Amino acid sequence: MSIMPQVIGVWCRQQGHEVHYVLYGGRSNIVKQIPDNLDLVFISSFTFTAQLAYSISNMLRSKGVVSVLGGPHARCYPEDSCKYFDYVVGLLNKELLLEIISDGIHHHSPGIYLSGKKQPHSIPSVEERWEFIEKGYGYSAVIKLIPMISSFGCPYKCDFCIDSSIPYQQLDIDALKSDFHFILSKVKRPRIGWYDPNFGVRFNTIMNAIEESIPPGRADFIAECNLSTLTESNVRRMRKNGFSCVIPGIESWYNYGKKAGMNGLEGFEKVRQVSAQLNMIQKNIPYVNVNFIMGLDNEQGQEPFELTKRFIDMTPGVYPSFLLFGAFGRASHANLKYQEENRIIPIPFHSHRSTHFTNIKPGNYTWFQFYECVIDLLNYSFSNRALYKRFRMIESGILKWFILSQSVSTGGYGKISFHASILNRLRTDKQFRSFFEQETTEIPVFFRERVKNDLGPQLWSWLPEGALEHDPNIYLKSLSL
Ligand code: SF4
Repeated sequence: MSIMPQVIGVWCRQQGHEVHYVLYGGRSNIVKQIPDNLDLVFISSFTFTAQLAYSISNMLRSKGVVSVLGGPHARCYPEDSCKYFDYVVGLLNKELLLEIISDGIHHHSPGIYLSGKKQPHSIPSVEERWEFIEKGYGYSAVIKLIPMISSFGCPYKCDFCIDSSIPYQQLDIDALKSDFHFILSKVKRPRIGWYDPNFGVRFNTIMNAIEESIPPGRADFIAECNLSTLTESNVRRMRKNGFSCVIPGIESWYNYGKKAGMNGLEGFEKVRQVSAQLNMIQKNIPYVNVNFIMGLDNEQGQEPFELTKRFIDMTPGVYPSFLLFGAFGRASHANLKYQEENRIIPIPFHSHRSTHFTNIKPGNYTWFQFYECVIDLLNYSFSNRALYKRFRMIESGILKWFILSQSVSTGGYGKISFHASILNRLRTDKQFRSFFEQETTEIPVFFRERVKNDLGPQLWSWLPEGALEHDPNIYLKSLSL
């Protein structure tokens, strides 16, 4: 559940428009949820839902509805998105929204790409967004989160990250305090999910606001934070104030040390220091989930994978999430390097998801070597021995079962069997292998069928001609025009 669609909903209502807010998590029939008689539709989409967004846009445009795309896919792939939408929006603020609406709401083909210089200075309050938040709150069956954000952008410059190019901006603290009071008046013990890309950059400011507004024990929080924020005194303060889950990114043993406060440290020394810090964090905060990125160019051989195994041994209570490194269009300037080296594989957007695939031909591994290392590490990290140790380290009964269910489903066993099936396909499916070796750009049947199955017959029929393909080097080409 993103926050910006709620913000757009409030801003449109303030202009006197009737607003329908539809959430789609893949389980229901999205077409049935879309009301008739729309003038304009805003769709927020990740890249892996781009084909779904393209189909819906095509279907609605055929009925005269003007379509606008926002969200990460719009920022990463504006050229491709403009083929299927009337407007494609990068950073949206209220002025830009009013400009789009006052444009007279008519079609543009190809669509127009618009972007504000920065994120909005302020967003509507939780009270103003509450109707939309409640809809999302009821939508989630397992973890019910109230989404809040205290800052946009990030002061760090991790070269893979879409937020690294957005200037850091703290949102108004008094407005946040009012939001807290409103939430407490509505929910007995809310679980608040911070949508800041990097929560706690101004740690004391935000923690003071929480302490002044929320009595201990009245709310739980989940946040993505850097290790440099998670010092022992900060972690204790977070525990006291109800932080039950933190998600720091380690990413690599050879890079991204600055955001961990460990600049210059790499290899086993970094493993040792990160592990010690995370063990301290895990003693205070029940659920600690760390992210690793596999397939970075500065890694080679077995060593990076073996170092992560040592980390798993030394940090048994921490849940590891493994992502494959991917280049998402214009998300980062660093992606130009892979386009210059002609290493980007045009995997259809629907499968362009770091949990499932990398679209960059590995720099220092063959595909077989890479997948063998990935599968070996995953097997190690979700072995019976590792699971048993993890299970023992977690105190909360509910959390034990949550982690176990994560491990035996999509996060662990599911991921192992998925990557194993891809390795097998690379070995046995000539067309698939040729695509990954860049001998052909023809989309393999495997990917086509995945999109077809997930869209279902109705939306598959609305997928525009050519929408499975994209130019993987369009960012680079646009700079030479
Ligand atoms: S610290 Fe996190 S949010 Fe900031 S640039 Fe790095 S990955 Fe992105």
